[in-house]
Amino acid sequence: MISIQGKGVSTGVAAGPLYFYQRVKSTIRRFEVTDREAEWARFKAAQAKAIDQLGELAEKARAEAGDEAALLFETHQMMCEDLDYEEAIEAGIKEEGRNAEAVVTDTGAQFAEMFAAMDDSYMQARAADVKDVSGRIVGILLGVVQGGIDSEVPVILAADDLAPSETVQLDKSKILGFITEGGSGSSHTAILARTMGIPAIIGIGDQLKAEFEGRDVIVDGGTGNVVIDPDEPTRDRLMAKRAELIKRQELLNQLKGLPNVSKDGQQVRIYCNIGNPEDVHSVLANDGGGIGLFRSEFLYLNCDDYPSEDYQFEAYKKVLADMEGKEVVIRTLDIGADKMIEYFKLPKEENPALGNRALRICLNRPEIFKTQLRALYRASAYGRLSIMFPMVTSVWEVKEAKKMCELVKKELKAEGIPYSDEVDVGIMIETPAAAIISDRLAKIVDFFSIGTNDLTQYTLACDRQNNDLGRFFNAHHPAVLRLIKMVAANAHKEGIWCGICGELGADLELTETFLSIGVDELSVSPRAVLPLRQKVRETNVAAVKPKLVADLMSDEVTL
Ligand code: PEP
Ligand code: MG
Repeated sequence: MISIQGKGVSTGVAAGPLYFYQRVKSTIRRFEVTDREAEWARFKAAQAKAIDQLGELAEKARAEAGDEAALLFETHQMMCEDLDYEEAIEAGIKEEGRNAEAVVTDTGAQFAEMFAAMDDSYMQARAADVKDVSGRIVGILLGVVQGGIDSEVPVILAADDLAPSETVQLDKSKILGFITEGGSGSSHTAILARTMGIPAIIGIGDQLKAEFEGRDVIVDGGTGNVVIDPDEPTRDRLMAKRAELIKRQELLNQLKGLPNVSKDGQQVRIYCNIGNPEDVHSVLANDGGGIGLFRSEFLYLNCDDYPSEDYQFEAYKKVLADMEGKEVVIRTLDIGADKMIEYFKLPKEENPALGNRALRICLNRPEIFKTQLRALYRASAYGRLSIMFPMVTSVWEVKEAKKMCELVKKELKAEGIPYSDEVDVGIMIETPAAAIISDRLAKIVDFFSIGTNDLTQYTLACDRQNNDLGRFFNAHHPAVLRLIKMVAANAHKEGIWCGICGELGADLELTETFLSIGVDELSVSPRAVLPLRQKVRETNVAAVKPKLVADLMSDEVTL
């Protein structure tokens, strides 16, 4: 038995075979083949498999986001068997005798270049498609699986780290737990693991060896412990803990349907954070009161090209309809920093977290912003939508973004397309600048939602992706908590609500503080709803508030 230690970032105990995440290798070998017919047959088999995979993806997309979403994969299917494309590959293999991986890579690049040079913008956009299709076929030829998991049974997935774009493409039904070499508690992989309710351990370093692949592993996402080939007593102990956690969950389930009200009658809304329309299932299963943060950029991360207005409309509409009139706060595109998307072709930056990201991109590239806002307002006819802008630092940014909302509504009206007049427009408070001028910002928006992941990173000058900052990264730092208190007070002065949608919202050690500050909404991963409800119901705010607030505002020299 081997026991190794990382940092637990999503609780739960899971057991299964260890599986290393597979990436499509970027370098491919080039060589001359002796049997050209056999090589051609190898290509044809890979092509057929790609078509099958794309068919499955189309069905999945149709079920999750409608026909428009499925269309992308169906187009890719057709591209796989496009006659010109296939003929070029046949010539490369049969006439030139080159290996299939090399021929498909080169043909893909050639066709992409040809599409990119065309005048028609629709044809230009096909460049990314043909590259993607070729990448898929090459992946199959190399025996590397798209989506990273080639296993019949669910696995404990190990990786050096996972980019958000890789995480969204994983086949979630195959994952029992995550282990990553690097990462941090507020990285998007950790956030996703919590949303999915899957145990996750980060920062395992180089302790996982390649020879552990396929061996029995138990992970404890609470303690951060990973056991390879557990002996009998360890297995029994961890399985007993697993049973205990399941029992605790059953007890928590009894809180479903009960209000989030403290002992002395203070109410707070408990909403959920999601990244995909399919996450709505776990919101409803955990009795979330609404959605406080839909990270819309995950839709973009899931696509190979800019998602169309219709594609986005279907996804937003589905979430709103599935939530049946409960409030859904959709955040506009928040890419940049750790969430990079190739097709945006963003220039490389020295400090991406301080660079071109989120609302900044939307304001600089209004055509992208407008497409998203049109999709959002169209979807607003199907439920209770609120729109929220991320990464605000100045009043003018919010005014400019709101102007775009007005323009979109005017256009939709002129086109006779229905939308709701009741859409609230709010902002995330996740920069110290926004917190400090929240008195002014409160006058021009309908709500605030505090993004403590970024607010902590920017206030403490601590990279949220860096797990090595240790004691310097203190999410309970009084500077962050004082900013939250100030923001809530400024919101209330203007009669608007203030929520927290960063990971701190689920931190039960701070629930009493947040209630004392008067936070109106806590938006957390679905699995955190019931533990939080339990904590709220156990709290007597009036009894704890005077001391908590006095300690927070005290000038005593502590932390
Ligand atoms: C935050 O910054 O706290 C937040 C909720 O947004 P994200 O984690 O997606 O940056
Ligand atoms: Mg953020």
